[in-house]
Amino acid sequence: MSDCLFCAIAAGDISTDRLHEDEHVVAFRDINPQAPTHVLVIPREHVASAAELTSDHDALWAHMLHVAQQLARSEGIDSSGFRIVTNIGHDGGQTVNHLHLHLLGGRPMHWPPG
Ligand code: AMP
Ligand code: ZN
Repeated sequence: MSDCLFCAIAAGDISTDRLHEDEHVVAFRDINPQAPTHVLVIPREHVASAAELTSDHDALWAHMLHVAQQLARSEGIDSSGFRIVTNIGHDGGQTVNHLHLHLLGGRPMHWPPG
């Protein structure tokens, strides 16, 4: 989709610190990290958010989770614990309207923040 930041990142038109890429997904470090490890996992396909997923995306969604799980291992945060988040829409705090998982870890996560 034109005019989509994460489509441009997936295409390689905007450079990022990439940790993983394959036929279906790309993972890269968040430019404004909220934790020592803060990685985004995005599908190459433009899907606006998790609210737009259909059963056609079941394999893609599962693959995104598996990539996040593998990255938690390679980042060394699998035994300490981590958080996987996807924000949806305005009230969900979504600022980029292309589906993404946040993988956060390397410090204790508390909810609510503050
Ligand atoms: P969300 O608020 O859930 O839509 O998350 C969007 C995330 O994208 C934020 O955490 C931003 O810091 C991150 N972000 C925006 N632009 C870039 C970029 N060029 N490279 C890496 N991360 C980015
Ligand atoms: Zn997109």
